[in-house]
Amino acid sequence: MKVGFVYDPIYLKHDTGQHVENAKRLEAIISHLEQTGLKQQLTPVKPRAASIEELSLVHHKQYISHIQGVAQKGGGWLDADTVMSPNSYEAATYAAGGTIRATEAVMNGEVGSAFALVRPPGHHATPQRAMGFCLFNNVAIATKYALAKYELERILIIDFDVHHGNGTQATFYDNLRVLYISTHQYPFYPGTGSIEETGSGAAKGTTVNIPLPAGCGDAEYLKVFEQIIVPVARWFKPRLILVSAGYDLHWADGIALMQVSVTGFTQMVKIIKGLADELCSGRLVFSLEGGYNVTALAVSVKATFDVLLGNTDIEDPLGQSPHRFATPDITPVIKAVKEIHNLV
Ligand SMILES: [Zn+2]
Repeated sequence: MKVGFVYDPIYLKHDTGQHVENAKRLEAIISHLEQTGLKQQLTPVKPRAASIEELSLVHHKQYISHIQGVAQKGGGWLDADTVMSPNSYEAATYAAGGTIRATEAVMNGEVGSAFALVRPPGHHATPQRAMGFCLFNNVAIATKYALAKYELERILIIDFDVHHGNGTQATFYDNLRVLYISTHQYPFYPGTGSIEETGSGAAKGTTVNIPLPAGCGDAEYLKVFEQIIVPVARWFKPRLILVSAGYDLHWADGIALMQVSVTGFTQMVKIIKGLADELCSGRLVFSLEGGYNVTALAVSVKATFDVLLGNTDIEDPLGQSPHRFATPDITPVIKAVKEIHNLV
């Protein structure tokens, strides 16, 4: 099956200056895909801007106008972490629209799976607030779009970014058609994502948080995927899987303290692809969230595409973490998550 990728130079025009979330991230990914010849194996999917109506599937109209207004006035800081330039509003509408297009391409059968290489990222953006480098919640918007347009009964969102996707959780906290499952370093930014946050009302149980201590590596993540994510996905039976793909859990990434290698990402993506193949005819959409060591980001995204393409012999040029401290025991976390979600 064809693997789609969404990219457009508009994403480079969200100019954040010396910020860690900058255009060099996407430039590094694209140039690595070109240099390794992988780009030729992919099917380009052209993004478009999300309309106001599409953005307002998740965000309040007043908030959307506010973001548009800040861009028109030349940009500025929205909070201590999140900055806008004059072109940021347009780039953000294309980031949401790019994730929608990736979803459409998968749902229409143009491609089997797709990865939206977009920025600004989205999973911290709440219906009414920008935060954590995020303006519009790309994955949440594409999920709402797919629920409505294709009348899907259930969509699974897997968020393996090292941070908790508070905005995505907030969007679907009371929605039993969307199961949000997140692995994240905890306690850590943004502070949410405890085991006890499981959804509200009839949707109780459709938010699954797996808060992990700092220092987890490939073995710990693999355990979490095999013992929690796989059974939860099989129980939920999604019609489509979206992934908030953040690569800031790589050991070389300075923003957090996880120890995952490119080989670890390869194993995680293989499991996700296996779930999509088993549960929803392979329908799988990735959207880029974090990842701030540009070398680690580029090789990890390439490895992700390799898995989606079914390539074997996937390279890990960076190897395992050189840090030699002991990895934490996550048995208690796994046990607690299983208990609260009745997984046996
Ligand atoms: Zn992150």
